[in-house]
Amino acid sequence: SSTFHRTDVAIIGAGPVGLFAIFECGMLKMRCHVVDALDMVGGQCTALYPEKPIYDIPGHPSIDAADLIDRLAEQAAPFAPTYHLGQQVEKLERTHEGRWQLTTSVGTVIDAQAVVVAAGVGAFGPNRPPLDGLAAYEGTSVFYMVRRKQDFAGKRVVIAGGGDSAVDWTLSLADIAERVYVIHRRPKFRAAPESVARMDALVRAGKVEMVVPYQLSGLEGADGQLTGVRVATLDGQEKTLPADALLAFFGLSMNLGPIADWGLNLDRNHIHVLPPSCATSAPGVFAIGDIASYPGKLKLILCGFAEAAQAAHAIHPLVHPGEALHFEYSTSKGVPGAA
Ligand code: FAD
Repeated sequence: SSTFHRTDVAIIGAGPVGLFAIFECGMLKMRCHVVDALDMVGGQCTALYPEKPIYDIPGHPSIDAADLIDRLAEQAAPFAPTYHLGQQVEKLERTHEGRWQLTTSVGTVIDAQAVVVAAGVGAFGPNRPPLDGLAAYEGTSVFYMVRRKQDFAGKRVVIAGGGDSAVDWTLSLADIAERVYVIHRRPKFRAAPESVARMDALVRAGKVEMVVPYQLSGLEGADGQLTGVRVATLDGQEKTLPADALLAFFGLSMNLGPIADWGLNLDRNHIHVLPPSCATSAPGVFAIGDIASYPGKLKLILCGFAEAAQAAHAIHPLVHPGEALHFEYSTSKGVPGAA
């Protein structure tokens, strides 16, 4: 189901810096479409440390990363951004009109006057277990996240991993799945102690079977449908767990991926930009936040915010040619929707 959109600015990455770029562009009357590989906004803040306080955001002596993201999304909301989440930007091409066209992994096409690459350390994706034939089962009986709990009702589910996701989904699915196996290579789980205690209680009650210390070693089944998951101890003793689904929770990895193929001036996972505009070597393409590099660059959220403002001002004449930009403060201009 491909869709086509035409907009002023396309922002690649909905981390803290991409979110603030919506605000800065909005203040200069430029509409934004924002794409992120994750199915939520917030980038590293949401994916890696939502509950950790941040102490160096001006005006917030302490703010949890997830709260900062909520505030940034709220600050961007009056400018009515369109979010395209759960999809990776795969192609970035110049159009014959001199605009840019982005194509995502699910076929969304965005045609924009300017592009802001706020892609951080790259797109987030699941760490996959190294199993033969894995791809044939992905999305049908091997999953890295649960979209609908009900999809696992009455199923035999193998949950692999030793962190919070593995433990939380074990607790959640134990009452609707026919059987839940938990595989982990060590007896100790790195998860909230209270949740681990509840999982232990389910094991004692016979609702969950603990398979430790084991690792995934193979998949059995046909046509995308699993019938069993093979597991092995470190010294190679194997057994097969009868299963309809495998949920693997091995964390997220980041991958610069297709960005490396876009012809931008790349240096070890960073895009070289020209300060203060943050212009890349491609006309109309700007890079800000963790992915941008220039002499003296600090990888801090607050520097990314400033870069968002600088890039927005550099983009303004591309989107509104000939319109003089009279610099104003946000207080004198007023934010649409704000009281
Ligand atoms: P990111 O937050 O990395 O977001 C980039 C987004 O782009 C991601 O969501 C990714 O999925 C998406 N993306 C990438 N490529 C694509 C693509 N091709 N298609 C679609 N989407 C794509 N900084 C501070 O200032 N103060 C702190 O106290 C602090 N503490 C930290 C603690 C930890 C544990 C970590 C890991 C980092 C910390 N940082 C801190 C750093 C801070 O999180 C980063 O500087 C910040 O997240 C950078 O924001 P960003 O928007 O540039 O990129």
